[in-house]
Formats: sequence, structure tokens, C-alpha cells
Amino acid sequence: MGVTDGVKAADNSIASKSQGISTLAPGLAVVQRELLVYLNGAFVPKSEAKISVFDHGLLYGDGVFEGIRAFGGYVFKLKEHVDRLYQSAACIELEIPMANEKMVEIVTETLRRNDLSNAYIRLVVTRGIGDMSVNPAPCRESTVFVITEPVASSTFPKEPRLLSTIITSVRRDPVDSTSHEIKSLNYLNSVLAVLEANRAKVDYPVMLDHRGFVSEGSTMNIFLVKDGTISTPPSSSGILHGITRERVIELARSMKYQVTEREITPFELLTADEAFFTGTLLGLAAVRVVSGKSIGKGGVGPVTRALYNEFRRIVSMPEEGTPIFGAQAVRQARKR
Ligand code: PMP
Repeated sequence: MGVTDGVKAADNSIASKSQGISTLAPGLAVVQRELLVYLNGAFVPKSEAKISVFDHGLLYGDGVFEGIRAFGGYVFKLKEHVDRLYQSAACIELEIPMANEKMVEIVTETLRRNDLSNAYIRLVVTRGIGDMSVNPAPCRESTVFVITEPVASSTFPKEPRLLSTIITSVRRDPVDSTSHEIKSLNYLNSVLAVLEANRAKVDYPVMLDHRGFVSEGSTMNIFLVKDGTISTPPSSSGILHGITRERVIELARSMKYQVTEREITPFELLTADEAFFTGTLLGLAAVRVVSGKSIGKGGVGPVTRALYNEFRRIVSMPEEGTPIFGAQAVRQARKR
């Protein structure tokens, strides 16, 4: 399985193995410059970016995070990701020690310091250092860090990923529990689902909510297409309010598709003409098979393909994100 999700980024791959950026010093061999990580107000080399074993993010999964991508010099929907981070934090009474605007600036500064135009970004805020008790009261200061990794391309590959799936026995946590509406560091519910998918030798799990309605994948939202109409599960099914989901719904409506948010039964998924996932890492990913049953013709359906093509076209547009460098540098980055 992949670096950041249950699914590998494949040919648009995050250059996860690259430890640094090659820079040519005059008269010297290639020098490997280590990527810098933002950690609590400082930029430190990746190998020195360390946090305490008493951090409640580690001890109890007590914290929040975002996975974000930059394409062609723009961080796609950065403000929306930062807003979601603050909303998740507010829900668990976790105070983030800076304003949203400052956090946006920290993310772009981390990318600038690493000279990255195309990147995967992980933004994390934990409860910080406490004692061994689960009680967060002794945690005085949250821990904030931003990790970036280079990505090879300024958009998604031409072909969407095509995934085999199963409906797992692991149910999404209910909305009055550790619901994925809060993007917390507690992903054990998703991890259990991915383990079951691994055992079944499929690419990815589909999870039901506690009542048996379709909820989402372990790290992606799900959509189905039936008779030209698109449906996706609502909040009441315990989904994360995906930023890709939101943008894809808007796109689909602008392309004159009818989109409804409604409860979806496993039967409806198994008998759909098309199904696809949405998420930051892959954009849209088509579903080939669910629990042994082919979806449609088992390939990328026409609606999924049309939406994917449109989505990969817009991700690096200035109006969709936040610039990393000045306008001129962005133009140069886009030519690379
Ligand atoms: N659901 C879950 C549980 C996730 O972790 C993610 C990834 N953030 C998504 C859905 C997709 O959300 P987004 O489009 O914001 O990446």
C-alpha cells in the first residue's frame, strides 16, 4: 500500500523515495540537500524533525491533520484545507496557536524553502506534550508541523486509477463517535478496513455506516452513477467532508449532471453503472469491482472519465488555489 493512503499514487507518484533535492555546487559533485520540515516555528532538516514520545498525538491519536497537494506552483484549495483543519481542531477543543492566515503562510513558506511547485503536503497539529494520562489538560502547547514531498507532475496522469474493492466488515464510526467528519489523527477505523482489503487482495476498501448504508472509502469519498444521475452519501453516513468531493459536485453540476447527496444502499452500489472515489491524493479513481461484482463494464465509465478530465484540467488553475511563489516564478514552474 502507498505512502499516504490505502492507495498508491502510482505513475503520478509522489517521489517518496527521494530524500532530498539535487543541487549542483560549483566544482563539486551533486549535493543532496535534505528537505526542510516546519516544526513549531522553525524549519529543520527532515532527519532532525522530531517530536516527544509524550506528545498526545502519538500516545492517543489526539490531534488533527490535512493532506494537501500543490500543482504547478499553486496549492490546490489551501484555504479550504486550513479551514477544515481549524474546524476539526475546534471540535476536539484543540487550540492552534496561530490564525488561519498565518497557517496558510507557513504552508507556502515550507514549499518555498524546499523549492517545490508540485508537492504532497502533510499539515499536522497535535495536542502536544502531556503526561501519560489520557487527560489532555496537562498539554500546554500544541505541536504544529508541515511535511512536504516532491511530486513528479503538475497534474494527475491522463488515465484515472481503476480500483478493485470490497465492502469491508469494518463499519465507519457513527456520527456521535470518532466520526470521520473530524479529520483527526485517529485513523484506526480506516486502518482496519485497509487491512481487510489487503487480506482480500483488492486495492481498496468501501466502508458502510453503522446502519449499513454506504459511507466512504478508508481515505476517499465515494460516488455512484446510475442512469446518468450522480449520487454520493451525506454527512449522516459519517463521511469526511472531502474537499475534492465538494469541488467534483460543483464541477458535475456545471457540466449539467444531476447530483444528489443521499443515503445509498450496498445494492445500489453493486448495481451502479459507474462508481468512483474522490480524494486529494488521486483526484478521482474509478471503481472496477466491488466484492467480486463488476461495476458497469468494469472499466472507467464515461461520466467518471469526463469528470476526471475536467478535474485534472482545473487543479493547477490560479483561482483554485494559493500561489507558492510570485506570479513570474509560477509561470516558469508551469513550463517545467
Ligand atoms: N474521507 C476520508 C476519511 C479521508 O481521509 C479523505 C482524505 N482527506 C477523504 C475522504 C477525501 O477528502 P479530500 O478530498 O479532502 O482529500
